[in-house]
Amino acid sequence: MDNRTVPETQVQNLIGASRRTPSEGEVYSVSNPATGEQITEFHESTPAAVDEAVTAGSDAFDSWKNTPVEERIQPLFEFKQLLEDHQDDIAETVVREHGKTLDEARGEIRRGIENVEVACGIPSMMQGGHLQNAAPEIDETAVRKPLGVFAAVTPFNFPAMIPLWFLPYSVATGNTFVLKPSEKCPLTAQYLIELAVEAGFPDGVVQLVNGGADTVNALIEHHGISGISFVGSTPVAKHVYESAAKHGKRVQAQGGAKNHVLVAASADLDFAAEQTVSSAFANTGQRCLANPVAVVEDDIYDAFAERVVDEAANMAVENGLEEDTDMGPLISEVHRENVLSYVETGIEEGGKLLLDGRDSDLPSKGCFLGPTVFGEVDPDATIVEEEIFGPVLALIRAEDFDHGLELVNRSDFGNASSLFTERGSDAKRFRHEVDAGNLAVNAGTAAPMAFFHFGGRKASFFGDLHAQGEDMIHFYTDKSIYIERWPDTQ
Ligand code: NAD
Repeated sequence: MDNRTVPETQVQNLIGASRRTPSEGEVYSVSNPATGEQITEFHESTPAAVDEAVTAGSDAFDSWKNTPVEERIQPLFEFKQLLEDHQDDIAETVVREHGKTLDEARGEIRRGIENVEVACGIPSMMQGGHLQNAAPEIDETAVRKPLGVFAAVTPFNFPAMIPLWFLPYSVATGNTFVLKPSEKCPLTAQYLIELAVEAGFPDGVVQLVNGGADTVNALIEHHGISGISFVGSTPVAKHVYESAAKHGKRVQAQGGAKNHVLVAASADLDFAAEQTVSSAFANTGQRCLANPVAVVEDDIYDAFAERVVDEAANMAVENGLEEDTDMGPLISEVHRENVLSYVETGIEEGGKLLLDGRDSDLPSKGCFLGPTVFGEVDPDATIVEEEIFGPVLALIRAEDFDHGLELVNRSDFGNASSLFTERGSDAKRFRHEVDAGNLAVNAGTAAPMAFFHFGGRKASFFGDLHAQGEDMIHFYTDKSIYIERWPDTQ
């Protein structure tokens, strides 16, 4: 980036108008998962640093919320333009610290920008309502008001997109905002915040604090924080939800996932197999919308399994910076070991290993594992029930469509599900009966556009208002009612 004010690999906090480098507390190392090389390291933010960020946000709040909405959205328009101008550079930052492919990185930046575009419509979206003659001589007006300083805590797997589920709506509604990105991918978040500063948000409106659990807990416990948005694994989502509620905050906490695709007997098998492979292995399986379990009707199970294995075996696994790469590495060696232990468990519990990613043609360095496919998996197997977050796909045989629906709904998670079918009646039953927040028919990934809400159910979500779109306006504002009585004689 031509005019970046922070060296590319130095992780800093942005507090008010100042950039600070914490120098005590736990040290986090950021590495390139495709090479294993360390990119940088940084310290946890202290409670004092968190306090400074929240205080700067509180100090900026009064003036920001009273800034006319038309003026408030001007930096958002500029932010969108800067994100677009820098998207290739941001994408490279994502690939270097996360490992996904350049195409995947460009895709997530686009989906993030979509949220900035939606938030630019805040003058319409934030309007309340008015009713004349609501009662004798009385008119009533409902308004939406910003609440103060909001924090967002984000995971490693979409380091550009997920912060943008929150930042644009938070500041557009007149709140100020503190981002705590994943300690595994802080450089992408820092890039975004640098661009937000350049876009012209006043000091204190957008802040960045880095660190891990201690920084998150300091934000949750801080009396100056009005609400928290969290995205990450289910145990942490549950902790954040409970702790934030205990501290009197608004909270929405998106957790982990174990999504199932259901392949009906009538499905177009080539298309269903291609979409299932793409859904299971995109982002190296590290997606909350991935479908790592395929429930397949008995009549077509063998033909479908054969197509899936052929398709997956052809994927090129390499450094994400290579243009022809289909799949990059996992985020870290620790995570790769964890995924490998699930492969062992899958074998021990009787799954038939149809494609062994450990045997793929893999680069000699880095946290790589090839696409792995298990067939004839028991519906109660560990690799079906637990989130692996890696390139491991389990195929389950269903007796018929009814049995398939039952297996899909057995999951403790409810983030997403996809159905492949050529029959409208299957699609209707799937829509009516499957208990997941994001449903897709004849699409491998149920990812809603930014003008719709995004969020799961069951163990995948704690709260009521989801990310993106109109739900964000409700989350970031409180409603007040004005009742005016003017008798006709006055
Ligand atoms: P994670 O839960 O380890 O970390 C997420 C965030 O929480 C990070 O910022 C981290 O610093 C912080 N954190 C970690 N441990 C904490 C603790 N004990 N207390 C307080 N904060 C803590 O998740 P991850 O590994 O970064 O991301 C992968 C997970 O995120 C997967 O489970 C995936 O399904 C989930 N995810 C869910 C969605 C969704 O929309 N439901 C989207 C993306 C990712």
